[in-house]
Amino acid sequence: MIELQGIPASPGIVIGNAFVYNDNELPELPRYRIETPQIELEWQRLQDAINLSTAQIKALEKTNKLKSSRSIFEAHIMMLEDPEYLGQIKKNLAKTQNNIEWVVNEVSKSIMQTLFSLEDSALRERAIDIADISRRILRNLLGLPDSSLGNLQKECIIVAHDLLPSELLTIDRKLLKGIAIDSGSKTSHVAILAKAFKIPAVLGLGGATAKIHDGDILLVNGGNGRIGINPGGENLEHFKAENDKLEKQLETLLLSSNEPALTLDGKRITLKANIGISEEAEQALRHGTEGIGLYRSEFLFLLPGVPAEEEMQFEAYKSVLETMKDKPVTIRTLDIGGDKAVPAFRIDDEKNPLLGWRAIRFCLACPDIFKTQLRALLRASVYGNLRIMFPMIGNLGEFETAVQLFNEAKDECKKKNQPFNEEIALGMMIEIPAAAVSAQHFTKKAAFFSIGTNDLLQYTLAVDRGNERVNYLAQNYHPAMLLLIKNAIDAAHQAGIPCSMCGELAGDYTATPLLLGLGLDEFSMDCSSIPFVKQRIRSLKHSDCKALADKALTMSRHEEVEKLINEFNA
Ligand code: PEP
Ligand code: MG
Repeated sequence: MIELQGIPASPGIVIGNAFVYNDNELPELPRYRIETPQIELEWQRLQDAINLSTAQIKALEKTNKLKSSRSIFEAHIMMLEDPEYLGQIKKNLAKTQNNIEWVVNEVSKSIMQTLFSLEDSALRERAIDIADISRRILRNLLGLPDSSLGNLQKECIIVAHDLLPSELLTIDRKLLKGIAIDSGSKTSHVAILAKAFKIPAVLGLGGATAKIHDGDILLVNGGNGRIGINPGGENLEHFKAENDKLEKQLETLLLSSNEPALTLDGKRITLKANIGISEEAEQALRHGTEGIGLYRSEFLFLLPGVPAEEEMQFEAYKSVLETMKDKPVTIRTLDIGGDKAVPAFRIDDEKNPLLGWRAIRFCLACPDIFKTQLRALLRASVYGNLRIMFPMIGNLGEFETAVQLFNEAKDECKKKNQPFNEEIALGMMIEIPAAAVSAQHFTKKAAFFSIGTNDLLQYTLAVDRGNERVNYLAQNYHPAMLLLIKNAIDAAHQAGIPCSMCGELAGDYTATPLLLGLGLDEFSMDCSSIPFVKQRIRSLKHSDCKALADKALTMSRHEEVEKLINEFNA
């Protein structure tokens, strides 16, 4: 058996057939002139391709139960029957007498360009629909198989060079057994989604797409980052034993999932869940969560073609709040950009997206989009215990402007007699080093902090979180990280505001003693990590953790801190 070693990104062990995903791009389109009598034949070819496209989309609709995906399919079927779109194709075909592939492409491109140049976001989303639908028609005209990820027909392990969160969201999750990707790291958003969906994933493999072929049998161990290609019987036995062990361990832990997270010397710690889609709230409760510490609302926006309009957002937020009853739910406002580009918002062409127009920067520049979200949140607030958190705050002015827009959204709700909770706490992520260093200034405005170690690490150590080549530099125990985390926690506690951590580090139970020692008393993590971190907390003395952290803070190298922690955990 050939083995590959990557970065363990989402735990679990799985065996299955590889599906090597090479993108859905079209080959170069043929262009030739047709004679007048052929026009009718070309038009008929188009009708056949449209009929096939409709049938493919209907099949997708049947297998995909995600509410948000269904609205994409409906929009696509409508596009296929749109008289204006078809009318333009017919006119262009008669006028230019080019082959139908060429005409469909030209007309679609021209409509997309017009729609993209408009301010109205709903119309821009229509452009994405046209892009999608024209690609499908063209593939059918060219007789190419439908290779879109949304059209998987059988269970598989996806092998890809790269996978966008939006692509992952279009896959039927029942069929997706595992993920093996050349790029990425533990904190890539694909890893975060894979964990949310409980799909074993190994990232940062470098050359998996070159070594794995369609149909190969793969063993994916997301816990240790190993991939086995075409394993023999002995390996399979070993795999089954490992898998059983893992399942038993989780079963045992879940038995005590509702016990409080209390250290041996009586310090009470709060454990909450990070979720990406509303349906995860139920799962979070089953894992013993005390609330939602981070709801990444941007995943609502990532499905191509789904208009994240106010009503759809309102329903999603309301559903989480209702599921969680009185438990606190922290919903983070739209954090797009970076590796979470939303094509409809045209921020996928930035030269340096991680340092660019992201998160709160984008929202403050597009107040209509931001206020639509804030109104949806306000209206949902009467259904539970809502807190709102702003991402990527780097200076006080940004926080203040966000609050000002929040107040405008309140006025708009009042005008429409829409009830909302007047007392919603507004907090912020600490994920830009500037905010962590000067945290004491932000406590004057923010009602709570949540430390986002994924971005804090990326920006503090200048390490792209999706780039496997620099993954070795992603050192959570770097002295600078410890100082920044400590400063944020101390500033919050001095001001009497709560400070949580929702970066991936919070869910790593080997880091729990250090984080407790640094003073953290609220952790938020992917649901499946909660039982493990809880068990660890219940085995620790807070006073020992404090001594451990004090010692770690004197160290000048991450290796020393790592050694110290390993010895403590041994
Ligand atoms: C973080 O940066 O740590 C965080 C929790 O936010 P995200 O991973 O969504 O960027
Ligand atoms: Mg972040």
